[in-house]
Amino acid sequence: MKLYHTLCNVSKFRTVFDFGGREVAHWFPGHMAKGLKKMRASLRRVDCIIEHIPFSGRNPLFQDTLDVRPHVLILNKMDLADLSNKQKILKTLERNGTKNVLFTDCLKQRDENVKKLVPLVMEVIESQSRFNRYENTDYCLMVIGVPNVGKSSLINSLRRTNLKKGRASRVGGEPGITKAVLTKIQVCERPLMFLLDTPGVLPPKIESVETGMKLALCGTILDHLVGEDIIADYLLYSLNRLGQFSYVEKYELQEPSDDIQHVLKHIAVKLRKTQRVKAITGVGNITVIMPNYTAAAYDFIRSFRKGELGQVILD
Ligand code: GDP
Repeated sequence: MKLYHTLCNVSKFRTVFDFGGREVAHWFPGHMAKGLKKMRASLRRVDCIIEHIPFSGRNPLFQDTLDVRPHVLILNKMDLADLSNKQKILKTLERNGTKNVLFTDCLKQRDENVKKLVPLVMEVIESQSRFNRYENTDYCLMVIGVPNVGKSSLINSLRRTNLKKGRASRVGGEPGITKAVLTKIQVCERPLMFLLDTPGVLPPKIESVETGMKLALCGTILDHLVGEDIIADYLLYSLNRLGQFSYVEKYELQEPSDDIQHVLKHIAVKLRKTQRVKAITGVGNITVIMPNYTAAAYDFIRSFRKGELGQVILD
């Protein structure tokens, strides 16, 4: 990659992001709080919790419950992350009491770390008493996490790895009792291990607009609630701040830019995402071709989520 610091005035780029007085209050719909209640209700059937979460947004509401259950933390989408600070991340987590951590890529056909999950879970469960489930010979896990973190992909990946089966199919479900609460998905034969098919969706804790924006960037919040334009601008700001300039080559820009309008216009023209707009002028109505900024913003954000703009850790 080119050393843009010497080519242009990167040092004059923004060092703080102006959120323009935005509030995160409306970014998370109320139904998520219900998920939490439901999860608490199914906990007594669970031997181990698989917390599947990005760094930002770990919800302290669930921390009390996690503390009393054996628990494994999964940091997923590692193919998208810059792991040069892996040891530092592990140390920070250990200081906060989280020892059992796996870095996964759930889209990989065979991921070594997904393979390690069942043995790790067994080790963790066996190091503690099994509460009121000691008479059971099977193991029951619950996956919790914020939306879009990859919970379904993890379930499918576990089944691919341990059962050589593809997409998850539901098993169990006892008549007369709410199916959603009792449905289990098998993820391993020996030992016999199931995952509770509860929603497992947590509202993330958002202590600042910036944390909210990082979560939005990772697809945790519906884009339109936050606004594609500001997510794209925050993405540009973050990439520049981290010195990750892959976007320049991908979109064939001349050099890095701190101006989102300029970047989006370029993307729109390159991808032919333009729209015809009627304009009324003194000499009559004319049709002008305008860049479709929303479509360009969407492409920019999606490319980032797919890892096409380079590996990044936002926290
Ligand atoms: P859920 O909402 O937590 O169940 O998340 P999904 O399993 O539906 O995944 C959300 C999105 O993230 C999908 O587009 C997945 O293809 C993608 N995804 C899941 N795991 C990974 C991963 O390890 N790496 C990458 N790059 N993408 C992933």
